[in-house]
Amino acid sequence: MKIKRFRSLTFKLTVWYIVILGAIVILAGLFLHQGFKEGLMNDLDKALVEIADEAHEKWWRTREVTWEEAIEKAEERYASYEPYIQMVEISEGETRRVKNVIRSERIPEGVFLLDTQTYFRADRTDIDSYIFRTVEEDQLSSYPLRVFLFPVRGPRILQVGVSLEATAAAMNKLMLVMILTGSIIMLLASVGGSFIINRALHPVKSVVKTAEDITAEDLSLRIDSKNRKDEIGALVETFNSMIARLEKSINKIRQFSGDVSHELRTPLTIIRGEIEVLLRKDRPKKEYVTTLNSVLEESHRMEKLIDGLLFLSRVEAMDRSKSRETVDLDEVLNAVIKFRSPSASNKNISIDAKIKPVQFRGNRELLERMTANILDNAIRYSNPGNHIEIELEKDKNMAKLQIHDSGIGIPEKSLPLIFDRFYVVDPSRSKETGGAGLGLSIVKWIAEYHNAEIAVDSKVDHGTNFTVTFPLD
Ligand code: ADP
Repeated sequence: MKIKRFRSLTFKLTVWYIVILGAIVILAGLFLHQGFKEGLMNDLDKALVEIADEAHEKWWRTREVTWEEAIEKAEERYASYEPYIQMVEISEGETRRVKNVIRSERIPEGVFLLDTQTYFRADRTDIDSYIFRTVEEDQLSSYPLRVFLFPVRGPRILQVGVSLEATAAAMNKLMLVMILTGSIIMLLASVGGSFIINRALHPVKSVVKTAEDITAEDLSLRIDSKNRKDEIGALVETFNSMIARLEKSINKIRQFSGDVSHELRTPLTIIRGEIEVLLRKDRPKKEYVTTLNSVLEESHRMEKLIDGLLFLSRVEAMDRSKSRETVDLDEVLNAVIKFRSPSASNKNISIDAKIKPVQFRGNRELLERMTANILDNAIRYSNPGNHIEIELEKDKNMAKLQIHDSGIGIPEKSLPLIFDRFYVVDPSRSKETGGAGLGLSIVKWIAEYHNAEIAVDSKVDHGTNFTVTFPLD
């Protein structure tokens, strides 16, 4: 289907190309034709003047020659033109009259006469405004005649005419040559043009073909750009990088759903195993309570995990532009501390907060979640009697939040991984604390959402320090 559409584009481009080229060729032909015609007419007019001049000169210079002889001589000299020469006498009496008094033998009497008005006008013209006419005279030629009127003494008008037959023949010849050359040009240009268009669009064909072969199952296909540095090369590169991005996100989604299934399966297997063992025989009440506590712990973990996943899928679909407002970061932080204080006191952990007022454009709910996650971890991974320090300060164009605990710390090799989804430093320890390895990946996502930078600094058995730097533009 798509290939078909592509073919029709080649066809369309070729048709347009031929139409435009045809118009150019026709226009060029018209100009050429007109120019050639004007050139021929000019030459003919010049020849007419020459013939008239020749006859006049003969008669004028010698005065021994009669007009008849002068006309005959001129006809002989310019025989190749086969001129019609005659002398027209004009008489101005009561009525104006004209008569071809002297004429070459080839002109019958009373033939080849223009209207009287024209002769009278010719009689009064000077050398700069000679009168030329193109007239039809069936008795002399089946072609029109080009006529020149030359006033001489008398008052008489020397009239010279030449048939346009030769001119028409030359024009026809030119027309024939033009049609032939035009057709050959059009043919060659059309074949060449459609070949070039086809060649230019050929890579697009392979883009379409590869695009059709690419499915969600196999995103590894790439189009060979053959190192082209033109627009097609750019198109292929763009297409390839789009497919690469798609492949990356689909792989990420696959990896994520695999991880999720695994993470949910583990607690379910534990729950099922423990219940199966419990149900094998009658047991004392204490054993039931222990197993139920373990089941409760696992369901807490699952609940936390599902909660985290739901949160991520909800915020990832959120319209970023609409979900920002001016947030008092200090208020957010104080509320989070207030809410977490009881669980810290239960573990005999003290919290010391130095919070300056800071306003920031962001999403309140996300900012609450971010600070709560970091503080939760600080409480969870601290030992009784440990101390947590929270500090929020404002610099010129940034705000810095630090949450420092003196807890168990993070091993150096785990530091680059703690923001990954489902990563836990010590699975047995996380199980105790109910962690699913999603908390810090959510923190990182929220920081990126707000263009904030997050850094962690930790030493095992000494404590951990999380720093979030918010840009205040
Ligand atoms: P969890 O929900 O399991 O705590 P997180 O993504 O929040 O998962 O954290 C990832 C890992 O980083 C945890 O398993 C934990 O071992 C470690 N961690 C995070 N915060 C701290 C901290 N303040 N002190 C020590 N270890 C921490």
